[in-house]
Amino acid sequence: MSLYDLQLTDWQKLLADQPSFRPKQIWQSIHERALRPELLTSLPKELREKLAGLPELNSAFKLLHLSADDRHLTEKAIFELNDGQVIETVLMHYADRSTVCISSQAGCAMNCAFCATGQRGFYRHLSIGEIAEQVIWAISRTRITRGSKRLSNVVFMGMGEPLANTRNVFGAIRRINEDIGIGARHITVSTVGIVPGIKLFTDLGLQVNLAVSLHAANNQKRSSIVPINNRYPIEQLTKALQEYANTTNRRISFEWAMMDGINDFENDARQLIALCIPLQAHVNLIPLNPTPGWPTKGSPFEKVVGFANILDNAGVAVSIRENRGTNIDAACGQLAGTLAESKTGERLSLTNSARMNIDALLD
Ligand code: SAH
Repeated sequence: MSLYDLQLTDWQKLLADQPSFRPKQIWQSIHERALRPELLTSLPKELREKLAGLPELNSAFKLLHLSADDRHLTEKAIFELNDGQVIETVLMHYADRSTVCISSQAGCAMNCAFCATGQRGFYRHLSIGEIAEQVIWAISRTRITRGSKRLSNVVFMGMGEPLANTRNVFGAIRRINEDIGIGARHITVSTVGIVPGIKLFTDLGLQVNLAVSLHAANNQKRSSIVPINNRYPIEQLTKALQEYANTTNRRISFEWAMMDGINDFENDARQLIALCIPLQAHVNLIPLNPTPGWPTKGSPFEKVVGFANILDNAGVAVSIRENRGTNIDAACGQLAGTLAESKTGERLSLTNSARMNIDALLD
């Protein structure tokens, strides 16, 4: 639990003996200014001292380790949650923006073959506060290292499958957007393709971006690297995405990690183009990052460029994602909480228990 798990009404109860403007005043400062309540100099000293001693206002986590790469333009934080679980958050600075990549679960149950988080299995969902506080950390950290520059973007591309934890992820999105003040178009949710979650996301009607981790455009190949495809095959997935596009008028993007000799052939590009055209989808090519449990290498750069050209020539918008943080295991798919093993909680994995009902893990 985190102080960011408290709702405004909880603050009102907590501060019942205070002037009625106090809860809102604190609420705004802890969100918009990302400050701890006991540090708010606009509050009377007595109140600050009282707040400093309240267990409800504890932070969601403690920073176990911070590593930097790319001349400090990429930083990875490893946090230990209050029950001993470990999550990772990555902050990336660019010339025109600063983006934080946040986790939505401790571990992940989707078991994608090439992803380090998936290789370690699922531990538990993160709460609204645990998700939101990663953004708060990133705002404070950006203030320390970048002075006047403010965190501009949030991507749900860290550990976990956001659309398997919809209640808390949607709650956190609302908090990040309405209270912390990051525009919906600056928030991106990346999903492995959980169809019921995409439907709920469509119904939310927000302007938040949706990215779908496709990686292969035929069922046989996709199921072999992204097992949830057995449950939600490509036809169901694209149908849900078409409904999303029709309802929200927004374009989705497909993520495609380029895997040497697996999904980097011309035929893969052709199948991908056929899926993209009706959806007017944008494609993000990510050179595959190495992970301990997956011997395949990333495609050579020339091959990535060749693949991008095929898409481009067919009129599909494509970009090659800059590879950030590989030296500190902070790149896409490398987040695994490697510093410390999780201390509590049963580890669930689809490989460990093939018959496990995945509904139990979907929110
Ligand atoms: N569960 C969400 C968010 C996960 S990570 C999802 O599947 O989208 C964000 C992106 O990194 C996803 O597109 C994921 O497929 C990709 N990814 C995972 N492992 C990777 C690796 N080893 N190299 C490159 N990208 C990887």
